[in-house]
Amino acid sequence: SIMPATLSAISNGARHGILFKGGVHLENLSNIKAIAFDKTGTLTKGKPEVTDIIVREGLAETELLSVVASIESQSNHPLAQSIVRFSQEKNIAYSAPDQLEDAAGWGVKGIVNGKQWKVGKADFVGKEAALSFSEGIANELAASGKTTVFAADDQGIAAVIALKDLIREETKHALELLHQEGIHTIMLTGDNAITAQAIAKEAHLDTFIAECLPEHKVDHLKTLIDDYQTVAMVGDGINDAPALATANIGIAMGEGSDVALETADIVLMKNDLPKIAEAIRLSKKMKRIIK
Ligand code: ADP
Ligand code: MG
Repeated sequence: SIMPATLSAISNGARHGILFKGGVHLENLSNIKAIAFDKTGTLTKGKPEVTDIIVREGLAETELLSVVASIESQSNHPLAQSIVRFSQEKNIAYSAPDQLEDAAGWGVKGIVNGKQWKVGKADFVGKEAALSFSEGIANELAASGKTTVFAADDQGIAAVIALKDLIREETKHALELLHQEGIHTIMLTGDNAITAQAIAKEAHLDTFIAECLPEHKVDHLKTLIDDYQTVAMVGDGINDAPALATANIGIAMGEGSDVALETADIVLMKNDLPKIAEAIRLSKKMKRIIK
């Protein structure tokens, strides 16, 4: 049965934008030693903006964007949606691709005007070629925290598009509060290590795991649980649901995908990250009252 102190804390939480799907989760929060965060849409706003486009010699930028927009128009990845939006703002016409294959966590493959294209991360289009494209400029873009999306055709790398996803205003403060509670913070991202390091530093994470495929997030969580005993995971995407379920406590961003909301034990109704530390404090206080 549920303790009166727990019940009152739950309803108090709900009034303040944090939803507990049961008293046990509120009670467990006081034991949390580490929290893993998804990057895109959780620590960051999840609406990356195109900042740079570098196109292979002999290829026009509008032509390139038309092809990439065609392929990305079929993907619902935040990077894809941003590239499509950017192309639309530039009034670039594009058609639907003839064939499409969405490789979650890697990129998209498709045929446009009879030609095979790949759009996605460096490993997906060919790491060596991607990183040496335009004399290492891809590395520079990543070092400033930008995510690089490569486009390649049968002649090799055709372009790199850089996008910057801003860190949420509350992220640093939320992490500071957690560090005050002695909690270790980890960022999990599918992004490359150079970009991930720049973002982790900017957002004040203790550590990060980069190039993390959606299916590997669960394995990383299991390792974290071995190391820290009680671990929470915070995420927003469909991809995060298995990790949210694996964590001792799954926390979803309120504006996240339905699957994340359903799977989570706790929902931050307004995506309000500092509420996590608040809830942990509440849990610790409640434990003292009950004891
Ligand atoms: P994250 O949520 O941390 O960005 P994802 O697993 O969604 O991780 O994606 C990992 C990486 O795969 C992205 O950073 C990007 O480089 C690449 N990627 C995935 N889907 C696409 C896509 N539709 N277009 C371009 N790149 C993509
Ligand atoms: Mg995400």
